[in-house]
Amino acid sequence: MTDPPVMVGHRCTSCLRIAFPPDPYGCEQCGVSATELEEFELEAKGSVRAVATVHRHHHPTPATPFTVGVVELVGGPVLKAIVEGDAVAVGDSVTGVLVDGEDHEGNPIVDLHFRVVT
Ligand SMILES: [Zn+2]
Repeated sequence: MTDPPVMVGHRCTSCLRIAFPPDPYGCEQCGVSATELEEFELEAKGSVRAVATVHRHHHPTPATPFTVGVVELVGGPVLKAIVEGDAVAVGDSVTGVLVDGEDHEGNPIVDLHFRVVT
């Protein structure tokens, strides 16, 4: 594992759009086929666009409360992930960390979270 993690997405060779997760069928922006996409490594770094604290949900893990952020990666893609910290705010810079956890059935997984960079 790398620290911070490296995320493998796609870059369109036609319009240069970067996608994460990778587009399986082609570019969502210009429509070229998947053969025109190349692997592209993204650092798990970005900034928080939106944030919400989850107090109740229908699975035992992750334990509540936890914070979900909409994170805009430095390369452009936007994703949702758990953001660790007590007072996560829009505009905070974050970096990705790999965290050992469990899926909803109790199986061990490695999950990508983000932490606020101070
Ligand atoms: Zn494209």
